[in-house]
Amino acid sequence: MSIARRKFDCLVIGAGGGGLRAALQLAESDAHVAVVSKVFPTRSHTVAAQGGMNAALGNVTPDNWHWHMYDTIKGSDYLGDQDAIEYMCRAASRLVVELEHYGVPFSRMEDGHIYQRPFGGQSQNFGGEQVARTCAAADRTGHAILHSLYQQNIRARTHFFDEYFVIDLILDDEGNALGALALEIETGEPLLIEAKTTLLATGGAGRMFRTSTNAMINTGDGIAMALRAGTPIQDMEFFQFHPTGIAGVGVLISEGVRGEGGYLVNGVGERFMERYAPNAKDLASRDVVSRAIAIEVREGRGCGPDKDHVLLKVDHLGAAPILKRLPGIRDLSMRFANVDPIEKPIPVYPTAHYTMGGIPTNRYGQVVAPIRHAPEEAIQGLYAVGECACVSVHGANRLGGNSLLDIVVFGRAAGNHIIEHLKEHRYHKSIPDALVEKPLARLHRWDKRGKGESVDEIRKELQKTMEENCGVFRTQEVLDEGVVKVKVLESRLNDAVITDHSKVFNTARIEALELENLMDVALAAVIGASARHESRGAHSRLDYPERDDVSWLKHTLYFKEGYQLDYKPVRMKPLSVDSFPPKERIY
Ligand SMILES: Cc1cc2nc3c(=O)[nH]c(=O)nc-3n(C[C@H](O)[C@H](O)[C@H](O)COP(=O)(O)OP(=O)(O)OC[C@H]3O[C@@H](n4cnc5c(N)ncnc54)[C@H](O)[C@@H]3O)c2cc1C
Repeated sequence: MSIARRKFDCLVIGAGGGGLRAALQLAESDAHVAVVSKVFPTRSHTVAAQGGMNAALGNVTPDNWHWHMYDTIKGSDYLGDQDAIEYMCRAASRLVVELEHYGVPFSRMEDGHIYQRPFGGQSQNFGGEQVARTCAAADRTGHAILHSLYQQNIRARTHFFDEYFVIDLILDDEGNALGALALEIETGEPLLIEAKTTLLATGGAGRMFRTSTNAMINTGDGIAMALRAGTPIQDMEFFQFHPTGIAGVGVLISEGVRGEGGYLVNGVGERFMERYAPNAKDLASRDVVSRAIAIEVREGRGCGPDKDHVLLKVDHLGAAPILKRLPGIRDLSMRFANVDPIEKPIPVYPTAHYTMGGIPTNRYGQVVAPIRHAPEEAIQGLYAVGECACVSVHGANRLGGNSLLDIVVFGRAAGNHIIEHLKEHRYHKSIPDALVEKPLARLHRWDKRGKGESVDEIRKELQKTMEENCGVFRTQEVLDEGVVKVKVLESRLNDAVITDHSKVFNTARIEALELENLMDVALAAVIGASARHESRGAHSRLDYPERDDVSWLKHTLYFKEGYQLDYKPVRMKPLSVDSFPPKERIY
């Protein structure tokens, strides 16, 4: 087979914060590392993160990592794994300082310390007063982090394959990761990358919903690659809807706006969060605020001519803090809602935002799954970090500011583990041609254009179906209907063609491959949701309104083959402190 081949110690798929932090660790230890990204690295979705990154620095209010750990476990509705959560919260402060030394220009206080803003679900003393824990570079934190990490990687001589699309992983029969097949987008030529270790850092799958804060590129590619390689994926029914997307558009208005003193009002001018979360009010966790907004609108107390949204008020803060702390938000609001928040409130409604589920890993980033092994083992040489992974620190609901933390903490941890792995696995295993046939066939399936049902049409229908049948509120009937509809769309996609002759050829081909990925991930989400007969975190069932710890305190595992589900226990034991057993979750 005459496909170009390249060899590396480690192949990192994805150049967001997770991939770049891992790559930096590796490049600095002199490992030969390649980062592949379907867009130029600094266009990865991490660049869009606004509000900030959590660490219990205690610069503004008293704080410590143990309180952060408690808040994260409570926020996760007790589905998060407590060993990983402890590991993340303990590492946070050190890694913020490290980022600062890499060049991230964090906002400052008068005395020179790093500024921290209050975010949802944060408390002092295990559920007490609000904490200010989120470190921010104004409202462009992700932009600052991603650019700093990219520059550090350039300095450390990481090799970049910019604008290469990875089609599939390659694993041998024993389940060892051997590398991946990629497509050079500009030329349309395939490239086989052979690597002793492969790390997936491909981000989330927010594009399976119609209205989403996510970039067009967030199509769950890595999650679907893991599924096709035979691993199950975990907890996909838990998808976060951010309370404040610009109504009708979906563009994110950061939780930092409420952290800085903004609040929500309904159509009768009432500050309704006081009813749903008497203590935390507008800074309750995201699942709670999103449901409250959806209920207000459903019960006829929405705003606007169609009463289909609520308002986020910030004008009472005055112009100076908005211009200093929220300049990007003001820009987005003027551009997409035609509203200057210094003068008028912003129309908002919950919007698909964050993929809590993903590829199951341990806290070293190793993919851990019952694949071709019995029963559950780390797959040799395969790692996953960031939004495509499920380690699981976010459980059933992620706290704002914990994802930028997650990608940096576990990116670094995976890098360190890979360095150790490489010491014991010093030689390449070459990829036999036979293992390349399947991914290559997947690519060539989309070589021809023709007449028939178009890929674009199916994508639109999938996004609509997921929004209507797997949204903020769920019932058995609605979810079961969703499962049937998505399965029909899956079979229609098998017969679909590229009909659009106006697009640059590879763009259409890549969109088709991305839709296959979205389809796999959507099936996992809706099938997992239909089977979970309880309400927990972001998974809110009208027919099972209570959390059920007796039957459902467990992670879902979804296998592509036969659409099978299995379950595994939550890791309740932290590393060094006492466990936080489940209790009622009140904000
Ligand atoms: C609008 C917005 C605001 C947010 N604000 C915050 C915040 O304030 N605080 C916080 O903690 N979190 C926030 N989040 C969440 C957080 O930003 C993300 O979860 C996190 O940045 C994801 O990082 P990542 O490295 O996992 O993936 P990403 O940054 O999404 O990067 C994915 C990478 O994978 C590559 N890739 C994907 N598929 C392929 C393929 N097939 N072939 C090759 N390359 C591929 C892409 O090119 C990209 O480089 C926000 C998210 C959004 C959408």
